[in-house]
Amino acid sequence: MMRSEAPSMAVTNEPGSTTTQAGDQAKLARRILEAPTSATVRIADLVKTLQAQGVDVVDFSAGRAVEDTPENICRAAADAMMAGDTHQTMAQGKPEYRAACATKLRRENGIEADPETEIIATFGCKNGLALAVLTTIDPGDEVIIEDPAFVSYAPTIRFFGGVPVPVPLESEDGHRWREEALRAAMTDRTRAILFCSPHNPTGVVHSPEDLDVIVRVARDHDLYVISDEIYERTPWDGRKHTSIATRPGMEGRSITLMGLTKTASMGGWRIGFVYAPPPVISAMVTLQQHLATCASSFIQVGAAVAFGEEPGPVLTDTWREWEERCQFMCLEVDMLPGVSCTPPDGGFYAWADIRGTGETSEALAERLLRDHHVAVVPGSAFGTRGEGFLRITCVRSWDELREGIRRMKEALS
Ligand code: PMP
Repeated sequence: MMRSEAPSMAVTNEPGSTTTQAGDQAKLARRILEAPTSATVRIADLVKTLQAQGVDVVDFSAGRAVEDTPENICRAAADAMMAGDTHQTMAQGKPEYRAACATKLRRENGIEADPETEIIATFGCKNGLALAVLTTIDPGDEVIIEDPAFVSYAPTIRFFGGVPVPVPLESEDGHRWREEALRAAMTDRTRAILFCSPHNPTGVVHSPEDLDVIVRVARDHDLYVISDEIYERTPWDGRKHTSIATRPGMEGRSITLMGLTKTASMGGWRIGFVYAPPPVISAMVTLQQHLATCASSFIQVGAAVAFGEEPGPVLTDTWREWEERCQFMCLEVDMLPGVSCTPPDGGFYAWADIRGTGETSEALAERLLRDHHVAVVPGSAFGTRGEGFLRITCVRSWDELREGIRRMKEALS
């Protein structure tokens, strides 16, 4: 196996590890000096650098599938661009795109949304998240997040002066919310609960009963609920995704984040939308006018096809195969010495319990990358409850899955 000289193989997620020259750091704002880099994006970038140097890395780190965006979606965007659709759109997004989002919500989520007042186009789900946080919290306000949680939640909340309050999801509870723990985290500064289902990284899909734990607490404390549903088109094994917005008691308080990055392999397009009550959308439009102007014009045309049309066989067959790859990968990972892993309820990650190996998640992830050229994400990047786990992306090619497993066996035997 080829060894690389640089860059560093460190997979840790240390605050202050920005790429800025050391000499310049004193001039930077504290919010960025104190921020961790995104472990997932950083490791994925490191993999690209290594691959460019000729190192044969099997990449299970980034949350992206091996498939490209379906052709009909690309064609719609390319045609729009060639036809001159290259100018700014309304800050809220094109009416046609918002109409397609409303069609999707009705068809797949049982939600009747008014595209005029309840939907805004965003450049990816992360932009929707930023708008949701900026719209709902003042400096010093608290936002409940899960532990473990998607790596960008806590930094995003902090960037805007908020305080992320992690509530543990214990593996013994199947990584589900415990109502007492959620209630115990409430203070007079709590403004919102931010969560994700299907869950990144644990793969849990919350049932309506699980969601009602959040609904009860949000109603009792008059909170917004920010629901990140980026993996919602991929619940497995006959499960159904439920949008918390459809649960009784959520009227006027749910902010739903949707995107195409994961389920339509559109991570490079940077497109999604938010569905929320009219006052929230109106506030987001003001923010978007200043922060970004709008989501990209011809990208919205392609995304209107991706959301507006019923998913065709190219996508549905791909999703079916992703489920098979998740099953395969988790069974294989489960057989590694000291490791246990059950297939996810939804989404496309294996959440591998490595506590039997005696190594920390960072040490093992670093060793896998350095010595065996397999990239995974250490669970510690997702919160304190992530320690003892690795996140492994399962939607790579069959050849990559087999080769990655072979290398992991070599590393752990
Ligand atoms: N939320 C979750 C839970 C994610 O896993 C990701 C991508 N890793 C995002 C949001 C970001 O989505 P986007 O690429 O649409 O900004």
